[in-house]
Amino acid sequence: MSKLDKSRDFGFDTRQVHAGARPDPNTGARAVPIFQTTSFVFEDSESAASYFDLKEYGNTYSRIMNPTVAAFEERIASLEGGCGAVGFASGIAAQAAALFTMLDPGDHVVSSTAIYGGTINQFKHQFHKMSVEVSWVDPDNLDAWRQAIQDNTKLFYGETIGNPTSNVLDIEAIAVLAHEHDIPLMIDNTFASPYLCRPIEWGADIVVHSATKFIGGHGTSIGGVVVDSGEFNWSNGKFPVIAEPSPAYHGLAFHDTFGMYGYLMKLRSETLRDLGAAMSPLNAFLFLQGMETLSIRMDRHVANAKAVAEYLDQHDLVSKVMYPSLEGSKYNVLANKYLPKGAGAVFTFDLEGGRQAGQDFISGLTLWSHLANVGDTKSLVIHPASTTHRQLSDEELVAAGIGQGTIRLSVGIEQIDDLIWDLDQGFLELQSKDNK
Ligand SMILES: *Cc1c(COP(=O)(O)O)cnc(C)c1O
Repeated sequence: MSKLDKSRDFGFDTRQVHAGARPDPNTGARAVPIFQTTSFVFEDSESAASYFDLKEYGNTYSRIMNPTVAAFEERIASLEGGCGAVGFASGIAAQAAALFTMLDPGDHVVSSTAIYGGTINQFKHQFHKMSVEVSWVDPDNLDAWRQAIQDNTKLFYGETIGNPTSNVLDIEAIAVLAHEHDIPLMIDNTFASPYLCRPIEWGADIVVHSATKFIGGHGTSIGGVVVDSGEFNWSNGKFPVIAEPSPAYHGLAFHDTFGMYGYLMKLRSETLRDLGAAMSPLNAFLFLQGMETLSIRMDRHVANAKAVAEYLDQHDLVSKVMYPSLEGSKYNVLANKYLPKGAGAVFTFDLEGGRQAGQDFISGLTLWSHLANVGDTKSLVIHPASTTHRQLSDEELVAAGIGQGTIRLSVGIEQIDDLIWDLDQGFLELQSKDNK
């Protein structure tokens, strides 16, 4: 926003269009150009050396930073209220890098059970290989979080709106507990987007996103991002990996040298450098386009989701609807606190008839696409027990709150009466098979 940004605190709707972007000084291009280049010419040998010493901040190689990706990072940091952000090739890469940067072998994480199935796999299997163990807790039970804390606990982890059961996390209470024990709280805010909830305002230290979902918003690109509040004290004695001189960067002490930017600098200049899951400039460009309409899309997603949830709640063949904004939901109070504009557009409902009913219902739909994604303008549907959560055992399914007849919806921005008409077709198909 160049000259403008000093004179006024711009609102969310303005920042989602302008933050991180300025007309290109060389060409005057108004849209952020796609800087499709691997590398950048140094002005002279001195500035080349100081970039590599991290004494000056400058582009070297697009695995580590790129101007199109930087515009994306600045915009999402602005929308989440963070001090900065680092983009990644996927949401799963972003959270892996976020944990990897702060943890050592032998460290311990406390995580909500109600999270994305892919995250459960990553924590259980990949982090286990790095000797990081995870304790799983019922996200609604604050005592369970407290009792899970050990001397080597270095992180609390949860989702604003849990996937797929739509638990709304009591972020403020969990952040207070974490901070009493000098532990940072990391929140996956994918299902809410920064328009519906900004976890940093409630005390979260780090926010991660799968940008693949509502941020991109159109189902075109895989990407992820880590946003840091800049508030956590990494020099509290628990995080030598960030506070002490780093052998991976000729003895640089990241927190001492960069203060509030220490964690992000290490995330970029060591973890991203060494693990390499960089966001592509083209995807960053598509995410920038997506963010320009985030609030407008989310308002429509939420309005449609509420209407679909109310319709399903009245339906004879539906036993339960897990949408936190419904009056009867046990998360209604938390939803009103953390998600006053609405609890997103991804939720599940249970069919009376179990697994076969789930598959029959989906086969009757034509407008809703049957696939494994959420947060698209197009309405999406899936049967978790036979797809996304197929690798989980029966007990793990129960713990994750998924039944044999559970259907997950991601409600798009189409015309609402068309969406409900198509759901009616699904129920007709189910009834014609008569397996109630
Ligand atoms: C999709 C998703 C992820 C993983 O993101 P990818 O971009 O698919 O790697 C992580 N968390 C949540 C809540 C998600 O929905």
